[in-house]
Amino acid sequence: MPAFKTLDDLTDIAGKRILVRVDLNVPVSDGKVTDATRIERVAPTITELSKKGAKVILLAHFGRPKGEPVADMSLSQIVMAVNQVLGQKILFASDCIGPEAEDAVASMKNGDVLLLENTRFHTGEEKNDSGFTEELAKNGDIYVNDAFSAAHRAHASTEGLAHRLPAYAGRTMQAELEALEKGLGAPARPVVAIVGGAKVSSKIDLLQNLVKKVDALVIGGGMANTFIAAQGIDVGKSLCEHDLADTARAIMAEAEASGCTIVLPSDGVVAREFKANADNETVAIDAIPSDAMMLDVGPKSVEAVNEWIGKASTLVWNGPLGAFEITPFDTATVSAAKFAAAETKAGRLVSVAGGGDTVAALNHAGVADDFSYVSTAGGAFLEWMEGKELPGVSVLTKA
Ligand code: AMP
Repeated sequence: MPAFKTLDDLTDIAGKRILVRVDLNVPVSDGKVTDATRIERVAPTITELSKKGAKVILLAHFGRPKGEPVADMSLSQIVMAVNQVLGQKILFASDCIGPEAEDAVASMKNGDVLLLENTRFHTGEEKNDSGFTEELAKNGDIYVNDAFSAAHRAHASTEGLAHRLPAYAGRTMQAELEALEKGLGAPARPVVAIVGGAKVSSKIDLLQNLVKKVDALVIGGGMANTFIAAQGIDVGKSLCEHDLADTARAIMAEAEASGCTIVLPSDGVVAREFKANADNETVAIDAIPSDAMMLDVGPKSVEAVNEWIGKASTLVWNGPLGAFEITPFDTATVSAAKFAAAETKAGRLVSVAGGGDTVAALNHAGVADDFSYVSTAGGAFLEWMEGKELPGVSVLTKA
């Protein structure tokens, strides 16, 4: 991984104005933050800089206001939650540029933390407009990016600023990049990837990248059906993208050419209704009844998945093996997650997981804390798995 500067490279920062890009895009219901995980993730960077006497100025987006102020997308509603997590009262300015922001910054004392209003209230943010970036840059001496989850976007606050100010990775960004490097950058081999979830169509690039990089690719979830059907097996009423049969076959051919073993389910748990505790049975993969759908991979398949996890030194995981939100179709996901967590705890496995439902699935299995790293970044994590360059990261490595 190309080197990037971290907070360790920042010395003598007392009194310096540090613009810190953070991810505060937390879920809010009735004006209350319902999950403060993202705030907790960026707290170490904020606290460290504040304790060193810097003036910490937070930049963040919230929702998709499309370039104009929208009251219910104001960051003012999360100030209390940030105060609580930091154990420190922060300041707030109702604009991220212009006199409001400049006056608020000018009146900061060393160690103060100031949150500026939603960067996406200005069109210049998403356009990465140089004039807007310049306005943001006026309020800082140094730029720290701690928002990996927004690093797949080349926006003013995620990319543009790194060209204007000395740029550093915050602690969360640093941890994420180090974990991802261990996952796919320079991993200990063998590397096994588990990819599950609903559809192949949303993960074609990801599968194509992984078969070139990993030793074994376990395919589960609804997307396994497309691969199974592509081999001429009847999957009944299972979720299946029959039009992607050629794509599935091409991915399997690429895997073979790259020496990557594709691991598909050999059995499945089928039901006739998509609901919790629906009547179900376990069948061999070539015996799915025509009126039934596979909602989880079966016990023999889980055994094979766990065998691969047992052989692996590195595991990269995105997407559940089955419809984990409804019992008992969470069985395979929970079993593999628990086994991977145990292997990690025993020091035999580096396990990196991420992307939307994966975090929920690992939380459901009660093992998210036992993985080496669980990324809460959705799109950015997936783009990393696709092998794409993330503009917010690459600009830091060039800074
Ligand atoms: P994704 O967002 O692509 O990772 O997909 C996650 C979703 O895939 C979850 O909501 C699961 O319920 C769903 N899923 C996983 N396996 C299956 C399956 N065999 N049939 C239908 N949906 C599934």
